[in-house]
Amino acid sequence: MRIDGRTRVCGLMGYPVEHTLSPLIHNMLAEDLGHHLLYVPFSVEPDRVGEAVKGARALNLMGLNVTVPHKSAVIPWLVEVDELAEKIGAVNTLVRCGDGYKGYNTDMTGLQSAMRTDGIELSGESVVVLGAGGAARAVAFLCAHAGAREVWLLNRTPERAVQIAREVNDAFGRDCVHGLALAAHEEIPKGQYLAVQGTSVGLYPHTEEVVIREEGFYEKIHTGYDLIYRPGDTRFMQLVRAHGGKAYNGLKMLAYQAVHAYELWNGVKVDEAETNRIIQILREETNVI
Ligand code: NAP
Repeated sequence: MRIDGRTRVCGLMGYPVEHTLSPLIHNMLAEDLGHHLLYVPFSVEPDRVGEAVKGARALNLMGLNVTVPHKSAVIPWLVEVDELAEKIGAVNTLVRCGDGYKGYNTDMTGLQSAMRTDGIELSGESVVVLGAGGAARAVAFLCAHAGAREVWLLNRTPERAVQIAREVNDAFGRDCVHGLALAAHEEIPKGQYLAVQGTSVGLYPHTEEVVIREEGFYEKIHTGYDLIYRPGDTRFMQLVRAHGGKAYNGLKMLAYQAVHAYELWNGVKVDEAETNRIIQILREETNVI
């Protein structure tokens, strides 16, 4: 791409940013869609988040993605926050707005879109969420927002799961989320559940690890959605399939969160063919089958 005086700049602020796939996705989208846009990573130290947001606005950056560890810390520096992102308490996309930026959580809208392409709707669904870190917390909020019937949130440190359940139930005014210890999975009533694997267990290179080993758990799971995309076929996914369920990895979520951010920045709709091209490139890049 030719960079000239009209080139608009977007980027990613995180710490670290060295392993991000976002520049690959966004620069490819810009090239394919003929937008004069450049996307670059910015390493921002934790105590410089406010300075970074102000500096970005001063430099007229059209938008930013925000990644670990800044997704919550950036919120006080924004002029506006989208309703779902505000409830979750984390943003991953900033869109230039007035004298600053408005924050969105396209991780979650991206996950929802990714699930839809696999025929999964959260509305009315009974869901098990494994983990209570940043990603699992956001998934619990998304489930309540999207009208899930019930959510069983299981975590190694049960206090975190209980705390998130309380926050989600308070935010939505209904008792739909139950926080439990991982080891208490047998307390989940008999039935068929969508399970979202939101822990870091099984992430490359620890590919043989899985957060719940007991086979009985997997008999209750009709679909397993692992947020991990490296490896593309986790032990969790294998166990779900071995018990007759369908299983998906987190690669499409990664693609859709980027597509949604790109759409917000550029006021365009990225079509399915282009999104599928991004997914295919990411598969090759991450060696996902
Ligand atoms: P995080 O905030 O660090 O949370 C990690 C979670 O994993 C916590 O619930 C933690 O439990 C649990 N955990 C860690 N080691 C464990 C172990 N040995 N046994 C049981 N539980 C363990 O991480 P995060 O940001 O939420 O990310 C979680 C996963 O989601 C990562 O694999 C990440 O790659 C993936 N992710 C994917 C996408 C995507 O676009 N596909 C986006 C975001 C995240 P404790 O609370 O007990 O420590």
